[in-house]
Amino acid sequence: STILVTGASGFIGSHVIKELLNQSFKVKAVVRSEKKKHLLASVFSEYKELLSFAIVEDICSFSELQLAMIDVAGILHLASPYTYSVVNFVDELLKPALEGTTTIMRAAASMPNNQIKRIVITSSFAAMFDASKGPQPGVVITESDFSPLRWEDGASTEDPAIAYRASKIVAELAAWEFLEKQKPSFDIAVICPPMVFGPLVAGAMIENNLANLNFSNNIIWEIASRSIDDVVPPTKGPVWVDVRDLAKAHVNALVKSDASNQRFLVSAGDFDNQQIADILRASISKEYTALNIPIGEVGKRLTGTHLTTDSSKAVKVLGITFTNFERTVTDLVNQLLEIQASK
Ligand code: NDP
Repeated sequence: STILVTGASGFIGSHVIKELLNQSFKVKAVVRSEKKKHLLASVFSEYKELLSFAIVEDICSFSELQLAMIDVAGILHLASPYTYSVVNFVDELLKPALEGTTTIMRAAASMPNNQIKRIVITSSFAAMFDASKGPQPGVVITESDFSPLRWEDGASTEDPAIAYRASKIVAELAAWEFLEKQKPSFDIAVICPPMVFGPLVAGAMIENNLANLNFSNNIIWEIASRSIDDVVPPTKGPVWVDVRDLAKAHVNALVKSDASNQRFLVSAGDFDNQQIADILRASISKEYTALNIPIGEVGKRLTGTHLTTDSSKAVKVLGITFTNFERTVTDLVNQLLEIQASK
């Protein structure tokens, strides 16, 4: 049987595919274009026998998704816009997030012989915390926290960050509601990651063009490609996870029976932008850092000034461990510097 992965061309999706293929799963990657299909096929050329594709231009197309689900036993649903470069928040953020999720579930429920056993849905830390409350020192976010944002908040705001956060909570709530009302034969598992960092599966994933770098990694690249005279930009979302650990969490959420109908916060803990600058200064070549890494207030940390996370449920049920921040940051930046140098 085959595992369907949506958002296959994305930063996290491509790592999830790598993890599945490494574990010898048959994978069907859902992409939006021939171009992305060829790109993934070339990156994963050594896994030709295990990897197939479905081109679904519109993630809200019931019939296209049904077709893609032939022979599929499990789904990892990651496709969702994560960008603030949007004009129409409803059409470009809210709708694909919400209707993408509900259409996946409807199509899965319509497949014959209760063929689909589980859908793992990638929600977000954005669907957990209440950003309007500010930094919230002392608060520990867990799986029992839900963002108060709703569709109207995302549709009426001028701030794309609010619209993105709203898109994630409405999509997740719709998934739980579908489960409760439709009682499909499959179960679900919901993964909520904070800022996801780490190297790309391959530079080819962004066509070796740093302008195509995904949103979260761009936070690190923004610091790595400043000038020594710049300030360290303020830290916005001060919790993180390594993409490789998160990919394992997704696959384990698919196969572990205890993950059935559970929500998981998969967070390695706190970070701040000063820490990124300090790590880079210590580990990237002196010539490079002397020009490009802002100094800021060396050694100053945000510890104790912001909310934190408790991921003990994910550790216990999904059996994951967390990569340390130094390694994640340096693995990513070394790769990005190589891509930049190859131009
Ligand atoms: P990327 O931008 O790298 O990937 C997004 C993926 O979703 C791409 O495959 C993209 O396809 C696809 N996609 C985007 N918009 C649509 C759409 N309208 N219809 C169909 N497919 C679409 O982001 P990530 O890999 O970081 O994000 C993957 C998931 O993880 C998302 O659900 C995101 O909300 C969630 N997440 C990410 C976090 C992070 O820090 N990165 C944190 C928390 C959650 P294409 O390549 O064709 O554009």
